[in-house]
Amino acid sequence: MHELSIAQSLLDIIIQEVNKNSISKVTWVKLRVGKFTSIEPSCLSFCFELLSKDTPAEGAHLRIESVSIRGKCRNCQEVFEPNDFLFVCPTCSGQDIEIINGRELYIQEIEGD
Ligand SMILES: [Zn+2]
Repeated sequence: MHELSIAQSLLDIIIQEVNKNSISKVTWVKLRVGKFTSIEPSCLSFCFELLSKDTPAEGAHLRIESVSIRGKCRNCQEVFEPNDFLFVCPTCSGQDIEIINGRELYIQEIEGD
């Protein structure tokens, strides 16, 4: 269950931001999470809720925006969305694929009072 350690890192970053911007309470946090990270959004929200108790982020809502996986064929430069993690170029059947989207995991916005 790697969501727990991810939730902890997110919380650390949020608390840092909170201190920097003198926010007393976080209302919501917008995250971008790539599908390639295999993070389960409901699980991440649950872990975050547990860990954020008694911090300024307690009760904050996570708005998780998932980012589709996109690959780029190194052979013909075709950009495509792989199906079921099958990394084969639909144009030339090449298998030398670079992942250009889907590994994202970052905080886009923090809103608070
Ligand atoms: Zn190709």
